[in-house]
Amino acid sequence: MPELPELQAHAERLEEDFGGRIVAGFRPITFTVLKTFRPDPSEAVGSPLGPVRRRGKHLLLGAGSLTFVVHLMQGGRLVPDEKQSAKPRNGIARWTFEEGPALLLTEPGTERKAGVWVVDGDPLDQEPLAGLGPDADALDADGWAAVLSGRTGRLHGVLRDQRAVAGIGRRLANEICHRARISPFASAAKLDRAQVEALADAADACIAESLAEERGRDHMATSAERSGAVHHHVGDPCPVCGDTVRSVEYRAYTVAYCPTCQTGGKVLADNTTSKFLK
Ligand SMILES: [Zn+2]
Repeated sequence: MPELPELQAHAERLEEDFGGRIVAGFRPITFTVLKTFRPDPSEAVGSPLGPVRRRGKHLLLGAGSLTFVVHLMQGGRLVPDEKQSAKPRNGIARWTFEEGPALLLTEPGTERKAGVWVVDGDPLDQEPLAGLGPDADALDADGWAAVLSGRTGRLHGVLRDQRAVAGIGRRLANEICHRARISPFASAAKLDRAQVEALADAADACIAESLAEERGRDHMATSAERSGAVHHHVGDPCPVCGDTVRSVEYRAYTVAYCPTCQTGGKVLADNTTSKFLK
């Protein structure tokens, strides 16, 4: 799933390509894509698009007093749509403008998880954004200490919990834990101050590197195109110490880590016993 850096660069590209264009219409193409009944999206007609922003893993497309909040989930994308055919391939919603190409929200296959919320007024105070934790790129060490304190979960799970901290998914959780040299299964609330500072530095570095990489592209990178030390590198040598990158497999994701860098050399249980580590 795209994370904070990919979505931030995506928002910047959208702002550049579509910002200021006058909205001519919005049409949900599937039944499930529009998550709100009110306000009527047609209230955006006649307003210039913008600003285009990001909050957590959501894109925010302003238009007058309305904001279209878009969650791409796994495979959703916002792409220029020159043809504007009646049944666009993988198309689930479309914004049209008085001039130029439309903007098409696509989602491949039958996932049907991506969504659009239309909100009036400040979108940050409303669903689906109201309950999000602070953005991961806005936290210093004290901010991270506040995010982690009182959390009962393991670090990797807390990092991916959007209500604790917003914008981090499976890849960044793996990479940040590795960069900070902390076990992904450490109790989040029990990190000492040095570890919290290492975590803050690691998050900054991982996000900044990914954002720089993503800003150099003209499209959102696929999961395999994103670089990393441990994510998608299970079985490879750790680029820091040379030990073999290991994993703990769950049904929906893989926790990848380096034993030497992160767990004092200890190889954690594999999927057959991983339920004990949750
Ligand atoms: Zn290592």
